[in-house]
Amino acid sequence: MSKTRELENIAKEIASCKVCPTLCKTAINPVPGEGNPDAEIMFIGEAPGAEEDRQGRPFVGASGQFLESMLEAIGLRRSDVFITNIVKYRPPGNRDPLPEEIKACWPWLERQINTIKPKIIGLLGRYAMNIFLPGLQISKCHGQPKRKGELIFLPLYHPAVALYNANMRTVLQEDFARIPVILKQTKSKFKQSKLLI
Ligand code: URA
Repeated sequence: MSKTRELENIAKEIASCKVCPTLCKTAINPVPGEGNPDAEIMFIGEAPGAEEDRQGRPFVGASGQFLESMLEAIGLRRSDVFITNIVKYRPPGNRDPLPEEIKACWPWLERQINTIKPKIIGLLGRYAMNIFLPGLQISKCHGQPKRKGELIFLPLYHPAVALYNANMRTVLQEDFARIPVILKQTKSKFKQSKLLI
């Protein structure tokens, strides 16, 4: 099956999912994620917010605009990468997703990763980071790639944190600027070990 078809199937399954008792009832739209099925870079945030819920698309509010500007700065468009969230429906009132909601959404995310097979996964914010890299502190490891099996995870501050904080904005922009370098290194077996912290 083509990657596009599999991602469409995942999105359809998310739209008809009734596993967790809350989210699919309180949200307006599912937000499965979107982007290039062959993306080398995937970004994972926490959960859709109000604007994402309204449009059924990830990172389309203020944080999304900032994310797009950082992508542009490294020569990428939204359509070059794949953007999604840990949880595929907006939690009511933007509360943190509950463990059972994360568990219910986990198979979709796992299938998206296994379908796209990105080289780098940018983890947007402490919350998404701790799902994949538990126990790490974002203040200590942002911008430092971590290998786990075949995948390279890059912990990043959440764009929302940087929206109203100029210092954070600079830190996030600098971390983003490392993405092309890290990507290049993943393509060179020789240099690959140097990536690892
Ligand atoms: N914040 C997130 O974590 N995800 C979105 O899609 C939007 C804002």
